[in-house]
Order: sequence, then C-alpha cells, then structure tokens
Amino acid sequence: MANFDLHTLVRKNILALKPYSSARDEFKGEADVYLDANENPYPSGYNRYPDPLQWKVKELLSKQKGIKPEQIFLGNGSDEAIDLLIRVFCEPNQDSVMITEPTYGMYRVCANINAVSIQNVLLTRDYQLDTEGIVKTVMSNTKIIFLCSPNNPTGNLLKVENIFSVLNQFSGLVVVDEAYIDFAGDVSLIKELKNYPNLVILQTFSKAWGLAGLRLGMCFASETIIGLLNKVKYPYNVNIKTQELAIEALVKIEDKNKAVTEILAERKKLIDELHDITFVKKVYPSDANFVLVAMENAPSIYQKLMQQGIIVRDRSAVVLCESSLRITIGTPEENKKLINTLKTL
Ligand SMILES: *Cc1c(COP(=O)(O)O)cnc(C)c1O
Repeated sequence: MANFDLHTLVRKNILALKPYSSARDEFKGEADVYLDANENPYPSGYNRYPDPLQWKVKELLSKQKGIKPEQIFLGNGSDEAIDLLIRVFCEPNQDSVMITEPTYGMYRVCANINAVSIQNVLLTRDYQLDTEGIVKTVMSNTKIIFLCSPNNPTGNLLKVENIFSVLNQFSGLVVVDEAYIDFAGDVSLIKELKNYPNLVILQTFSKAWGLAGLRLGMCFASETIIGLLNKVKYPYNVNIKTQELAIEALVKIEDKNKAVTEILAERKKLIDELHDITFVKKVYPSDANFVLVAMENAPSIYQKLMQQGIIVRDRSAVVLCESSLRITIGTPEENKKLINTLKTL
C-alpha cells in the first residue's frame, strides 16, 4: 500500500457529511414504550423499523470470520457495497476505477452510473492478473481496483502473490470480490485485513449460502472504511426478515457446508462428463460453483439448450471468453439432464 492515505482518497463531501440520524440511531437500548419513530404501535411482526446496523447478524459473522463487528458492512446484495464504494471514493467526472476483464459486470455498470471512468487491464490468457500492466496503467485519479477471486465468468482463483503485488504497489483501495470463496477452500483474504489498510473484501449470501432471493451482501474492511459506507447507506438498508433469516442460516453453517460439499462433488462429475462431449473444446478449471466451457459454435448450443428448457449463460461475446458458455452446477438431476441433452445435439 504505497503511500496509502484514506483521507485524501475519500470524496471531500463524504468526509464532511453529517449523516442522517434515525430514531433507532439515537436511542439504542431496550425500552417499554417506543414513541420515537412514528411507527404503527400494533404488532404485525414488522411494524418496527429494523436495526440500522444489523448488530446481531454482525456478531455471528464476527465470530465466524474472526474480525470485529465494526469491520463488517451489510447491504442489499454485495452490489450495494460496490455502488457505495464508488460513491464514497470516486468524484464523478474526475476519478476512475480499474477493472480486469473478463470479470463481473457490475463494477463497470456502477462506475458508468456514477460518471466514473474505467481503466480496463485485461486478464492474461490463463485468466490471471497482468500485475505489470495494472501497475503501469494506474493513473493519479485511480481510486479503486476491483479484483474478483474466484473470478466470474472464468471460475478460477487469482494467484494470491499477484493480489499482494497489487496491494503493495497501489495507493488506492483494492477490492477483492470473494462471492464464490466458499467453493475454493480456506483461502479468503479476510485474515490479511490487519496487514493491508487498503484491502476491502466482498462476500455474499447469494451463492453458497443459498439465499440469493434475500439480497444480503457483506463487505469487510478497516473500521474507518466501514464507517464511511455506513455514513452513506440508506438508514434501514437491510430489512427485518432478511436479518432474521441470515441469523438462522449463520447458526446452521453446517447446512451451507453440506451444500458446498455436494456441489463440489457434482462439479467434478460434470467436468468429467463434459470432456466426453464431442463439440466441447475446453473445460476451464473451476474454483467456483460454475464452469466456463469452450465449445464449437457456442451460441448455437446455447439456443438449442434453451429450446430444451435448459438455460446457461452465453459468454461467447465476452473478451477472452470466445465461444464459451458459463454453466452453473445444478442438482445431480439437473446436471444429468444437461449432459444427456448435450449428447443429443
Ligand atoms: C453473484 C456475484 C455477486 C453477488 O452479488 P449479490 O448482489 O450479493 O447477489 C457478487 N460478485 C460476483 C463476482 C458475483 O458473481
């Protein structure tokens, strides 16, 4: 983190911002009578506002992740954290972010929405970071570098030595999106937060935890960075039901681990079977719950699968993913159906 200085990175208006203070911010304890938030007093299960900072969820996460609750931000999907990071650190029409395509599309979209320009340093042919290219391309207005590991849509982990190299040479924030980390073994960079004040990690309840419909994303970083995100977020950004269901899921972590084990066994089987399909040219190695598969005439295979009621993601128009489909690992029955259908095409 060459010359990392958080205060010069943050937008001036955000640094000076006095955030909205909600009723539940001002009074935090337990009371008999709540007449402070203009709620309807009759119980419906949801007549009260939720905890604006989701402390119960964070307490559980704190234990599982081995960091302080104050180092955790929760949002409406990790997409909320991506948007907030850009809004907190990047001045519209002035600052920029760096992305390394092919990668998750939301970094580009959020930058575009916020009028923040983009430096795109392509991954190498084997889908790893071009660290030399990244360091050479960084500009004085580059505030954030978004890295995704395991990467979507390619499926592979980025080499940690390359991530460290970026962290060490860049004086802005390095966001490592670990949406698929549960499928990759015990390799999260959360334990590095104490060594790198410029490191931000994203995870989500949408993939391994099986709760995409809830919309709950996690961001882990220094207390200062998390404090800035909290200042800018909507006051009650995570609803009561989502907080309750997240707590239920977190205390039953073994259910998540079991699902991961089953998906990994299916991934291995599916990859083996894909190799036997005549028009499959390459199955890329995967550290995630999907595989990128290069095949002859991918768009036509995509269409034919769709006609049979099987929807995969056509990535053949994506840079460095020519002629490839991205296929999520499904249930054993779903994967069998996919393989059987591919064999008839
Ligand atoms: C799916 C995915 C997410 C998850 O986003 P949510 O808003 O939490 O559902 C984040 N990053 C990547 C790379 C993803 O593929």
